[in-house]
Amino acid sequence: MMTKLVFVIFIFLLTSCWGETSTVVTASNDSYPSHEIKESNVENRIYFCEYCGKKFHSIKDLATNLCKRHPDGAYNGRHKLYEGRTKKFYECVYCGKDAKSIADLTANKCKYSPIGGSHRPRL
Ligand SMILES: [Zn+2]
Ligand SMILES: [Zn+2]
Repeated sequence: MMTKLVFVIFIFLLTSCWGETSTVVTASNDSYPSHEIKESNVENRIYFCEYCGKKFHSIKDLATNLCKRHPDGAYNGRHKLYEGRTKKFYECVYCGKDAKSIADLTANKCKYSPIGGSHRPRL
């Protein structure tokens, strides 16, 4: 009879231990969705072309399309990824002119450009 009681207590302790383990697993499962949201934010990132300021949702799209403001001539090459940070103003590396977007800045020719091209955003 005494042995049976000890056995029951043992089983009780064992199951309560399992209960704790499953709680830990649930907690780590809860943190998983927020990790997924972070990853989808990365996918929603917008990439800009340094020559024309066009927006792309993937680097692949950017690198496979021809750029109308390519330095070698319109549609003479592909877009180039702007690798600088997103800013409030983009400044031309040659003349210092600034604009609110890369597209605005590169829309005009820069008279100080060594290749006679458009303004070029500083990274
Ligand atoms: Zn471009
Ligand atoms: Zn300029």
